[in-house]
Amino acid sequence: TNVNINELLEQILKRLKPIAEKQNIELVLESFRPVSADVDEVKITLAFTNLIENAVKYNRPDGWVHVSLNADHQYFYLKVEDCGIGIPEESLEHIYERFYRVDKSHSREIGGTGLGLAITRSAVLMHRGAIKVFSTVGEGTIFNVRIPLNYIS
Ligand code: ATP
Ligand code: MG
Repeated sequence: TNVNINELLEQILKRLKPIAEKQNIELVLESFRPVSADVDEVKITLAFTNLIENAVKYNRPDGWVHVSLNADHQYFYLKVEDCGIGIPEESLEHIYERFYRVDKSHSREIGGTGLGLAITRSAVLMHRGAIKVFSTVGEGTIFNVRIPLNYIS
Protein backbone atom coordinates (compact mmCIF):
# COMPACT_ATOMS: atom_id res chain seq x y z
CA THR A 1 0.00 0.00 0.00
CA ASN A 2 0.97 3.60 -0.48
CA VAL A 3 2.34 4.98 2.77
CA ASN A 4 3.09 8.56 3.76
CA ILE A 5 6.66 8.19 5.02
CA ASN A 6 6.82 11.69 6.54
CA GLU A 7 3.82 10.87 8.72
CA LEU A 8 5.15 7.42 9.57
CA LEU A 9 8.39 8.97 10.82
CA GLU A 10 6.58 11.68 12.76
CA GLN A 11 4.62 9.01 14.60
CA ILE A 12 7.74 7.00 15.39
CA LEU A 13 9.47 10.10 16.78
CA LYS A 14 6.42 11.00 18.83
CA ARG A 15 6.53 7.58 20.48
CA LEU A 16 10.27 7.72 21.17
CA LYS A 17 10.34 11.30 22.41
CA PRO A 18 9.55 10.47 26.08
CA ILE A 19 12.42 7.94 26.14
CA ALA A 20 14.80 10.48 24.60
CA GLU A 21 13.72 13.21 27.00
CA LYS A 22 14.57 11.08 30.01
CA GLN A 23 18.23 11.31 28.98
CA ASN A 24 17.84 14.85 27.68
CA ILE A 25 18.53 13.70 24.14
CA GLU A 26 17.34 15.97 21.37
CA LEU A 27 15.40 14.07 18.73
CA VAL A 28 15.01 15.94 15.45
CA LEU A 29 13.29 15.05 12.20
CA GLU A 30 14.16 16.87 9.00
CA SER A 31 11.94 16.08 6.03
CA PHE A 32 13.37 17.52 2.84
CA ARG A 33 10.32 16.61 0.79
CA PRO A 34 6.98 14.84 0.94
CA VAL A 35 7.47 11.13 0.41
CA SER A 36 4.93 8.43 -0.22
CA ALA A 37 6.03 4.94 -1.11
CA ASP A 38 4.63 1.47 -1.73
CA VAL A 39 5.82 -0.33 1.36
CA ASP A 40 4.70 -2.81 3.95
CA GLU A 41 3.76 -0.29 6.62
CA VAL A 42 4.15 -2.64 9.59
CA LYS A 43 7.58 -3.94 8.54
CA ILE A 44 8.92 -0.50 7.66
CA THR A 45 7.63 0.95 10.91
CA LEU A 46 9.41 -1.80 12.86
CA ALA A 47 12.59 -1.33 10.83
CA PHE A 48 12.75 2.45 11.27
CA THR A 49 11.64 2.33 14.90
CA ASN A 50 14.56 0.08 15.77
CA LEU A 51 17.11 2.31 14.01
CA ILE A 52 15.87 5.43 15.79
CA GLU A 53 15.43 3.62 19.10
CA ASN A 54 19.03 2.38 18.87
CA ALA A 55 20.24 5.91 18.17
CA VAL A 56 18.54 7.01 21.40
CA LYS A 57 19.56 3.95 23.46
CA TYR A 58 23.22 3.96 22.52
CA ASN A 59 23.61 7.67 22.95
CA ARG A 60 24.93 9.82 25.78
CA PRO A 61 23.17 12.17 28.20
CA ASP A 62 22.45 15.54 26.57
CA GLY A 63 23.10 14.02 23.16
CA TRP A 64 21.13 14.28 19.93
CA VAL A 65 19.62 12.13 17.21
CA HIS A 66 19.10 13.54 13.75
CA VAL A 67 16.68 11.76 11.43
CA SER A 68 16.37 12.97 7.86
CA LEU A 69 14.21 11.97 4.93
CA ASN A 70 14.86 12.71 1.30
CA ALA A 71 13.90 11.28 -2.07
CA ASP A 72 14.59 11.29 -5.78
CA HIS A 73 12.59 9.77 -8.64
CA GLN A 74 13.40 6.21 -7.68
CA TYR A 75 14.15 5.98 -4.01
CA PHE A 76 13.58 7.55 -0.65
CA TYR A 77 16.49 7.93 1.73
CA LEU A 78 16.43 7.73 5.50
CA LYS A 79 19.42 8.84 7.51
CA VAL A 80 19.63 8.25 11.26
CA GLU A 81 22.60 9.95 12.87
CA ASP A 82 23.56 9.95 16.54
CA CYS A 83 26.38 11.31 18.71
CA GLY A 84 26.48 8.21 20.90
CA ILE A 85 28.90 5.50 21.92
CA GLY A 86 29.59 4.26 18.40
CA ILE A 87 30.29 0.73 17.18
CA PRO A 88 33.80 -0.75 17.12
CA GLU A 89 35.14 -1.50 13.65
CA GLU A 90 35.38 -5.25 14.34
CA SER A 91 31.71 -5.38 15.39
CA LEU A 92 30.32 -3.67 12.29
CA GLU A 93 30.15 -6.89 10.27
CA HIS A 94 28.14 -8.60 13.02
CA ILE A 95 25.51 -6.07 14.02
CA TYR A 96 22.87 -7.47 11.63
CA GLU A 97 23.22 -10.98 13.06
CA ARG A 98 20.42 -12.19 15.28
CA PHE A 99 21.17 -11.84 19.01
CA TYR A 100 24.46 -10.03 18.39
CA ARG A 101 25.15 -7.20 20.83
CA VAL A 102 28.37 -5.25 21.18
CA ASP A 103 30.03 -6.43 24.36
CA LYS A 104 32.12 -3.45 25.30
CA SER A 105 29.27 -0.98 25.00
CA HIS A 106 27.04 -0.50 27.98
CA SER A 107 24.52 -2.50 25.96
CA ARG A 108 24.53 -5.06 28.76
CA GLU A 109 22.88 -2.64 31.16
CA ILE A 110 20.82 -1.00 28.41
CA GLY A 111 18.74 -4.03 27.62
CA GLY A 112 17.68 -5.53 24.33
CA THR A 113 17.69 -8.85 22.57
CA GLY A 114 19.95 -8.12 19.62
CA LEU A 115 17.17 -8.83 17.15
CA GLY A 116 16.36 -5.27 16.10
CA LEU A 117 18.92 -4.78 13.34
CA ALA A 118 18.32 -8.27 11.94
CA ILE A 119 14.66 -7.33 11.58
CA THR A 120 15.56 -3.91 10.16
CA ARG A 121 17.89 -5.38 7.56
CA SER A 122 15.50 -8.09 6.40
CA ALA A 123 12.69 -5.53 6.04
CA VAL A 124 14.95 -3.27 3.97
CA LEU A 125 16.13 -6.14 1.76
CA MET A 126 12.56 -7.38 1.35
CA HIS A 127 11.77 -4.01 -0.23
CA ARG A 128 14.84 -4.29 -2.46
CA GLY A 129 16.49 -1.52 -0.52
CA ALA A 130 19.93 -1.08 0.96
CA ILE A 131 21.35 -0.24 4.38
CA LYS A 132 24.79 1.10 5.25
CA VAL A 133 26.43 2.00 8.51
CA PHE A 134 29.27 4.38 9.38
CA SER A 135 30.48 4.59 12.94
CA THR A 136 33.26 5.91 15.13
CA VAL A 137 33.65 4.75 18.72
CA GLY A 138 33.01 7.62 21.12
CA GLU A 139 31.72 9.88 18.36
CA GLY A 140 28.59 8.37 16.93
CA THR A 141 26.89 6.35 14.26
CA ILE A 142 25.12 6.96 10.97
CA PHE A 143 22.70 4.52 9.36
CA ASN A 144 21.72 5.22 5.76
CA VAL A 145 18.74 3.41 4.28
CA ARG A 146 17.54 3.52 0.69
CA ILE A 147 14.13 2.13 -0.31
CA PRO A 148 12.53 2.11 -3.77
CA LEU A 149 9.41 4.30 -3.98
CA ASN A 150 7.61 1.68 -6.03
CA TYR A 151 8.22 -1.78 -4.81
CA ILE A 152 6.88 -4.58 -6.98
CA SER A 153 6.74 -7.88 -5.15
P1 ATP B 1 16.73 -5.05 20.32
O1 ATP B 1 16.77 -4.08 19.17
O2 ATP B 1 16.41 -6.44 19.87
O3 ATP B 1 15.89 -4.58 21.45
P2 ATP B 1 19.51 -4.37 20.50
O4 ATP B 1 19.20 -2.93 20.35
O5 ATP B 1 20.61 -4.75 21.43
O6 ATP B 1 18.19 -5.18 20.94
P3 ATP B 1 20.06 -4.40 17.65
O7 ATP B 1 19.12 -3.28 17.43
O8 ATP B 1 20.04 -5.55 16.69
O9 ATP B 1 19.86 -5.05 19.10
O10 ATP B 1 21.55 -3.85 17.70
C1 ATP B 1 22.63 -4.75 17.85
C2 ATP B 1 23.77 -4.12 18.63
O11 ATP B 1 24.40 -3.14 17.81
C3 ATP B 1 23.35 -3.38 19.88
O12 ATP B 1 23.24 -4.22 20.99
C4 ATP B 1 24.46 -2.37 20.05
O13 ATP B 1 25.56 -2.98 20.68
C5 ATP B 1 24.85 -2.06 18.60
N1 ATP B 1 24.21 -0.83 18.08
C6 ATP B 1 23.12 -0.74 17.31
N2 ATP B 1 22.80 0.52 16.98
C7 ATP B 1 23.74 1.29 17.58
C8 ATP B 1 24.01 2.70 17.62
N3 ATP B 1 23.22 3.58 17.00
N4 ATP B 1 25.08 3.11 18.33
C9 ATP B 1 25.89 2.22 18.97
N5 ATP B 1 25.71 0.89 18.96
C10 ATP B 1 24.65 0.43 18.28
MG1 MG C 1 17.77 -2.32 18.85
